[in-house]
Amino acid sequence: MAGEPQADCLFCKIVAGEVPATIVRESETTVAFRDINPQAPTHVLVIPKVHYANARELAAAAPAIAADVVREAGEVAADEKVDATGYRIVFNTGPGAGQTVFHAHAHVLGGRDLQRLV
Ligand code: C5P
Repeated sequence: MAGEPQADCLFCKIVAGEVPATIVRESETTVAFRDINPQAPTHVLVIPKVHYANARELAAAAPAIAADVVREAGEVAADEKVDATGYRIVFNTGPGAGQTVFHAHAHVLGGRDLQRLV
């Protein structure tokens, strides 16, 4: 069923505690953890606990939880003290955009010069 955990989904396993992750924040609806292959001094992923393949599907099916993901991303930035200098929230969507894990997630990137888009 839509939103239900998927047996073959790595991020569902992180939500369930079956795969280890360095969790930095958790809310009723979201988990935030450090990316294992960081691309910036701050690189945290914020995921919804429910399973949707990407941000568009999440926003269509569960808009309040999509808002929770964005709000938690901002809280991560504040916790990491990158909110004053600026940070980036990225939702890679589709393989052509570099999405490799098909469970919606926001990358929160900060702590280095991010003025170039890519
Ligand atoms: O947007 P994309 O799907 O490429 O992002 C997936 C991210 O998940 C990657 O940045 C990867 O380093 C991260 N990852 C992780 N922990 C894992 C597996 C992948 O942080 N166990």
